[in-house]
Amino acid sequence: MVPYTCQSCGMPFTKEMRGTNRDKSFNNDYCIKCFKDGEFTNPHLTLHQLEIQLLEMAEVHNGISLEEAQQIIRKLPELKRWRMENI
Ligand SMILES: [Zn+2]
Repeated sequence: MVPYTCQSCGMPFTKEMRGTNRDKSFNNDYCIKCFKDGEFTNPHLTLHQLEIQLLEMAEVHNGISLEEAQQIIRKLPELKRWRMENI
C-alpha cells in the first residue's frame, strides 16, 4: 500500500519519495519529482503537458499501465495544484 498521492502529478508515492519544503522538512502533498526545496521542479508545467507525460510513461511501461495513467488523468483536476489554477 502506498500512503501518499502526489497533488501535482497524481502518482502514488512512498514516504521516502516525499517532496521537501524550503526548510528541508518533508511535504506530504507532493512527491520529490514534483516539489523540491519548497518549489515545483517544473513551475511552468500545465495540466495538459502532465497528461501527455503520463500517457508517454504508460507507453514505455515506465511504472504505470495505460489504465492507471487514464485513471490518474481523470483525477488530476481534483488535485491541489490544479484546483488552484482554476480559481
Ligand atoms: Zn508528483
